[in-house]
Amino acid sequence: MHELSIAISLVEQLEQAARRERASRITSVRLALGALSGVERGPLEFCFPMAAAGTLAEGARLEIEEVPITVRCRSCGAETRVGELQLACPRCGAPGVEVTGGRELTVRSMEVV
Ligand SMILES: [Zn+2]
Repeated sequence: MHELSIAISLVEQLEQAARRERASRITSVRLALGALSGVERGPLEFCFPMAAAGTLAEGARLEIEEVPITVRCRSCGAETRVGELQLACPRCGAPGVEVTGGRELTVRSMEVV
């Protein structure tokens, strides 16, 4: 399962950060998950405890903040939240937008003891 390998690398990243803080345990993690990240929330939540078992993150609470897709128009500069990726500006209709949000798979914060 794709999300399991994502969860494992996430836990590795968390453990490295926790070791730098000389923490003994990670109690909660807040993750930004973009709609375009290619990772599904449900499977990730399911896989996280398995990936965390036996690590500093064992038993940590996982909070997921879903990040919507945002595009910026190259013509009018408008930045718009969209439900799904589109190639024309929702504001002025010009073709050519760049994705400015929604690719995130980022640790926003974590709590350790
Ligand atoms: Zn536009």
